[in-house]
Amino acid sequence: MSGRNPTEPSPAQKPGEFDLIGRYFAPLAGPGAFGLGDDAAVLTPPPGQQLVFTADAIIAGVHFLADDPAGDVAAKLLAVNLSDLAAMGAVGAGYLITTAWPRVLDEDWIADFAQGLGTAQAEHEIALLGGDTVATDGPMCLSLTAIGELPMGSAIRRNGAKAGDNIYVSGRIGDAGVGLRILCDGLMDGTTPDHQAAVERYRRPRPRLALGQALRGLASACIDISDGLVADLGHLAAQSRAAMTVDLAAIPLSPLAGLIGGAAAAIVAGDDYELLFTAAPDDELRLLDAGQETGTTVSRIGRVTAGRGVEVVDAAGVKVNLAQPGYRHF
Ligand SMILES: [Mg+2]
Repeated sequence: MSGRNPTEPSPAQKPGEFDLIGRYFAPLAGPGAFGLGDDAAVLTPPPGQQLVFTADAIIAGVHFLADDPAGDVAAKLLAVNLSDLAAMGAVGAGYLITTAWPRVLDEDWIADFAQGLGTAQAEHEIALLGGDTVATDGPMCLSLTAIGELPMGSAIRRNGAKAGDNIYVSGRIGDAGVGLRILCDGLMDGTTPDHQAAVERYRRPRPRLALGQALRGLASACIDISDGLVADLGHLAAQSRAAMTVDLAAIPLSPLAGLIGGAAAAIVAGDDYELLFTAAPDDELRLLDAGQETGTTVSRIGRVTAGRGVEVVDAAGVKVNLAQPGYRHF
């Protein structure tokens, strides 16, 4: 992947839209996309399956850093959308991408972006169905629409949590927030494998697709963490019309969480792309099995009660006051 500055002008003649699509994106086209040569793609869902749709856009300087490697930007764009499919219990069926490239963008950046996208789509067994490419005088904006599928009626919603359920989270919280801090504060020099892993988690989130599928019929409600554990738990609480209490000491924490202010900061940092879900206590063994079968750590972090909103308590049960939930660093 190129480390080239994406705003550096290309000395070469700039290719047109169709040249770029044919050269870099047509090779990524899946069945039904007709090599991107038609007006639209055609998708036939397997019998008994429902289609699931989600879209997310990312903007340079807001959702990724302008000097992030192009291949990582592509991987992140796909991953954040697949994370939404995972939260519903769906698997990927195809995706559409719309790119607004700065006019001065180097073609090498686009080549690296397409290569990163190809690697990521192969890893997640999904293929390109179509999209659009435009030029902009503003910052780079990349939008992706992911289409998933799941058995009829099996989508995991945000609204099913009930008083008495437990709250669980996959993986570790705070790694991406730490990674962003390392990149923004220039802390990469002489860093440890933990530092590098945190940056990797910020640049290349891992959508929990296997766990999401395993949670169908098991989780009572589910969401993926993009804005921060507390903010996203707030969405589960609101949709489920319930209250959520989180034990701060039970949060599976990044080993470098101290860099951003510890557990209370990690749970509002965001970009984790872990699954946050609820389930009845009787289902806990099945749930831990699902975690093991999919190679995903699952931690119980709290409980659902009657009421509204999210409360975080310390080991003594005392309410913890948090910084603004979902606060973004830049
Ligand atoms: Mg989401």
